[in-house]
Amino acid sequence: MVAAVGSDEVVDWLRRFAAAVQEQEQHLTELDSAIGDADHGSNMRRGTSAVVAQLDGDGVTGSPGEVAKQAGLTLVKTVGGASGPLYGTFMLRFAASAGAEAELDAAQLGAALRAGLGGVVARGRAERGDKTMFDVLAPALDAFDQAVADGGDAAAAAAAAASAAPGLREATAPLVARKGRASYLGERSAGHVDPGSASTTLLLEALAGALAGP
Ligand code: ADP
Ligand code: MG
Repeated sequence: MVAAVGSDEVVDWLRRFAAAVQEQEQHLTELDSAIGDADHGSNMRRGTSAVVAQLDGDGVTGSPGEVAKQAGLTLVKTVGGASGPLYGTFMLRFAASAGAEAELDAAQLGAALRAGLGGVVARGRAERGDKTMFDVLAPALDAFDQAVADGGDAAAAAAAAASAAPGLREATAPLVARKGRASYLGERSAGHVDPGSASTTLLLEALAGALAGP
């Protein structure tokens, strides 16, 4: 278990997220074909592959915040659709909160994740129940904070967020979309899981995986 999050852990998080997106690309696209335009898998795969290419290429060095900032810039540049600015802003706000710290403890990690959520809200104005990635991210971060309040370290808190995520993702199915492309369908958006909720679940599971240690 990893008690403090350094840049190696953030790199591992990004790599795990990219691998999970690649593995689930078709599934993400299927979800988006039901209530959107069938591009969420390819959008996310393109963006996360570009992040990995950047990590593999010039290499990204520096603090956790610096690594997150580079990833955020790449996501904004390479992911098409609504999710590019949303995930990109998430990482950029995470980066700004993490600052130049070499290591983040559980509370600092929680603050950075919450700043990321603030970026998603600033961009997309989603509220609870709108059937977006917010519906996974916001309550999962509440679970993160609760674990920290209970004395958990960063790994335990990330595990709490990740274990909350799949249930939150499934709970988007009956909702009627009020934001994004799915909202054009009105009542017909009900009965399908929100694609962004599925990719956000992968993001949180990747973080927990990166902090769980070998
Ligand atoms: P697009 O909708 O432009 O095709 P994607 O398919 O890549 O982009 O991403 C769709 C996902 O983005 C949705 O499933 C939803 O979770 C998320 N999303 C869309 N609009 C918003 C918003 N305003 N706030 C938060 N999340 C949003
Ligand atoms: Mg789409």
